[in-house]
Amino acid sequence: MQYGDKRRINGLEMPWHPLQIVTWFLYPMIIIHYFWFLMPLLWPNIADIIVVTVIFGLATIIAFISAYEVCHIDPIDPLILSKDNNTGDDRINCYLCKVHVHSSSKHCRFCNKCVYRFDHHCKWLNTCVGGNNYRYFLGILMSVGTQVSISFLLSIAYLVEIYSYPNKYNYRIDNPHLLGLSEDGVKGVLIVSIIVLSPLIALLYQLIGFHIVLVSKGLTTYDFIVEQQRLQREKNNIQRQTIAKSSQNMTPQKVNQNELELTKIQSAAETV
Ligand SMILES: [Zn+2]
Ligand SMILES: [Zn+2]
Repeated sequence: MQYGDKRRINGLEMPWHPLQIVTWFLYPMIIIHYFWFLMPLLWPNIADIIVVTVIFGLATIIAFISAYEVCHIDPIDPLILSKDNNTGDDRINCYLCKVHVHSSSKHCRFCNKCVYRFDHHCKWLNTCVGGNNYRYFLGILMSVGTQVSISFLLSIAYLVEIYSYPNKYNYRIDNPHLLGLSEDGVKGVLIVSIIVLSPLIALLYQLIGFHIVLVSKGLTTYDFIVEQQRLQREKNNIQRQTIAKSSQNMTPQKVNQNELELTKIQSAAETV
């Protein structure tokens, strides 16, 4: 979704992206799920309730602050705002912004502006992630990762307990705070929780691991993608040269097959 010539300031600005609305709808579900369902199951061990809920609660607060900051901060290259149009080795010209910006900046076609130390445009938050708000983006990943880990581990632990220690489990579901869920109801919600949380936790862990590697190497997501594309192009060139060499001294039929291979490689290169 592009927004014409208008420059977006931040992720809270209209028009909202459909995926952003999905995020706003789904994220509270993780909180409701814990406080409505998982926390009461910790009953009657008050110490467990306090420890787990304090960690979950802190992660929730960090997630809200990080989400607000990442969406509220304008990640624009400050040189656009300062109208400092000096040239230099660390500057590049953006013909769309009509100004010289930092060489690490990239023009985002969704936000219609150059973003300082551009990482990526996040449709789930409807804003760019760059040098100005990247640490808050990491804050979201870490805090939501903590929340989902707690929910996932508790769900697994309860389900194991149901089949291993049914007496202890019965003790738990006697809890009046469980809103009258039956034994089968609790089992059903636990199974659905694990099914829903499994892909979410896999995605979050993959993202956290990816960004830890990026930070350790001083790269952005954009740098990583550009490097991957460069390596792919090099690989395609080597394949082309190899096929072109082997085409010499071949029968016309084999040459036609190799030409077909070359066309496939060229198409693949154009799409990366
Ligand atoms: Zn620009
Ligand atoms: Zn953007």
